[in-house]
Amino acid sequence: MREIVGGVDPHIRDNIPNFVYQPGIGGTVPFEERKCAWCQEEFTNGDRLSSVPSCGHVFHSDCIGEYMLRRNTCPFCRQPIALSSGPRLNL
Ligand SMILES: [Zn+2]
Ligand SMILES: [Zn+2]
Repeated sequence: MREIVGGVDPHIRDNIPNFVYQPGIGGTVPFEERKCAWCQEEFTNGDRLSSVPSCGHVFHSDCIGEYMLRRNTCPFCRQPIALSSGPRLNL
């Protein structure tokens, strides 16, 4: 796995899955607490979110977008951000 100091590879940033948060649809957000681990705000209906394919954690698209410009690991679990799906999320 390649370490990219200073941010995530632009190819990965461009291909991080985005979706709109819709409470009530089971399994849309695998992250149990249903809040952004970066800004600590709860997701609300219609928020634009992004999930990290490699670990399945979910953040606001704006939060993770900013974060990925500086770091290449998940702000929640510190695993490297990659496009390959982990066992928790099948995209
Ligand atoms: Zn956030
Ligand atoms: Zn994570």
